[in-house]
Amino acid sequence: MRMTRDESDQQALQQLVIKRFGMAAGTYGLALLLTWVTVAGGFYQASLDTAVIGSVMILACQLVFFGIFYRGYNLRFRDPSLTEPQVLVALVWLTFFLFNLGDNRGSLLVLYVLVLMFAVFLPPKIFARYAVLALLSFVGMSLFDAHEGHLADPQAALLQTGVLLVTLIWMCLFVGYVYRLRQRMRQRRFALQAHQETLRGMMRQLEDLASTDELTGLYNRRYFLRRAEAELSRLRAGHQSGLALIDLDHFKRINDLHGHATGDRVLQAFASVARSCLRDGDILARYGGEEFVLLLPHTDAEQFSACCERLREAFANSQPLDVQLQAGHLSLSVGLTLLNAGDGLDESLQRADEALYRAKDSGRNRCEASWAMADA
Ligand code: GH3
Ligand code: MG
Ligand code: MG
Repeated sequence: MRMTRDESDQQALQQLVIKRFGMAAGTYGLALLLTWVTVAGGFYQASLDTAVIGSVMILACQLVFFGIFYRGYNLRFRDPSLTEPQVLVALVWLTFFLFNLGDNRGSLLVLYVLVLMFAVFLPPKIFARYAVLALLSFVGMSLFDAHEGHLADPQAALLQTGVLLVTLIWMCLFVGYVYRLRQRMRQRRFALQAHQETLRGMMRQLEDLASTDELTGLYNRRYFLRRAEAELSRLRAGHQSGLALIDLDHFKRINDLHGHATGDRVLQAFASVARSCLRDGDILARYGGEEFVLLLPHTDAEQFSACCERLREAFANSQPLDVQLQAGHLSLSVGLTLLNAGDGLDESLQRADEALYRAKDSGRNRCEASWAMADA
């Protein structure tokens, strides 16, 4: 079953969200492990209840976020992976955790940097907000401890705050740089896409120019030969296609009597008459001068003859615009042949040409078939 673009976009988005949720689950799983390792190692200075509260908070938040994702609400968010709320939860949990570590917290200060690493692809302003929150949380913790008289080493706390401040400033600068880089890359991608569109348009124009006859708007000889070769190679045993050479009768006379411009208009009139007689899959091209070639895929002798006969009559009855010609002055002769699987194009054109020669020879304004010649 084919998917629409929207569906495949939606699916890609869901896969991305599942991947990010897997990552969040792993990260928060490590956070839980860390809590209980510090408890087991005796580094956790608060009561066991706080460790349970911290663990429950993380699990509850992940359940709520996954619920939001599962109901599909996340797809309407700007950031489907919920990066911002996840970073916020991590910062709150980390502060709560470090607060309960008491004097041991300094060694795990680096976790603030680790949490903020998940936010490096957010816009710089939002990142800076989280960096300030991390710093204020740490400073707040130290101040609270000092106020309560628990701060064992104020100088160490000051040094830790300084280190955290410098690291966060550096990270903010880095995030600004990454953001500008991404903006520039996005602009370049848009510019490239626009160039690509222009190039595609020009390619289409070039292809049209290279395959079209300027005067009549029909295909030209080069294009016809290419298409005919392709049709022939696709032709399966038991199927037939029709090939006809069409030549306007006494065309030189029209030119001589009425001028070259009139001749041109007659050629254009033939093209428009032929177009109205043919179907979409039929290939008609100007073979040269006042000679045209027609390829009718999937046909038989009867259908093909009828089609060419219709074309001959329609042209004989046509009246080119702005051209003063006496009735019966327009006619054409056609040489028909049938293509079978394994036939060569050159020999087939040769057969059609011989049939055309016979049509001219027997008085013009008629269709002659190569198979009739073979039957005779
Ligand atoms: P026949 O019935 O035997 O085919 O005679 P014909 O006069 O049609 O054939 P001939 O080959 O003697 O002359 C074809 C003429 O077509 C000669 C040429 O000047 C003219 N012709 C070729 N290309 C063009 C064109 O693009 N515009 C015009 N107006 N005439 C063209
Ligand atoms: Mg002619
Ligand atoms: Mg000719």
